[in-house]
Amino acid sequence: MHEMMVAENLLAAISDEAAKRDAKPIGAKISCGMLYAINDEALCFAFEAISQDTPCEDLKLQIEHKSLQGLCTKCNQNFDVELSQPRCSKCGSEDFKLLPDAPLMLEEIEFQTE
Ligand SMILES: [Zn+2]
Repeated sequence: MHEMMVAENLLAAISDEAAKRDAKPIGAKISCGMLYAINDEALCFAFEAISQDTPCEDLKLQIEHKSLQGLCTKCNQNFDVELSQPRCSKCGSEDFKLLPDAPLMLEEIEFQTE
């Protein structure tokens, strides 16, 4: 199960950071590309299951899906590719290269302040 593996990596990364700061993590934001086959619910469920009885228990996961990026071969512009209408946002050209999908990233961890 893909999400379980992702959840385990996240838990390890967040626990590391929490130990370094000696603080309880209460939230985390991750982002990943659109093509990254991740199911938000399955990931949150997996994370909840493995974080029980760890400092990451009750942590809120927030997952942001980033759109695909294209690079226009005409005007060299980077833009978000709309799947329904794939064309350059600047010059309207349909001649562009798809850039690699964004990797899964841990963007931010929120810690309890008290
Ligand atoms: Zn263009």
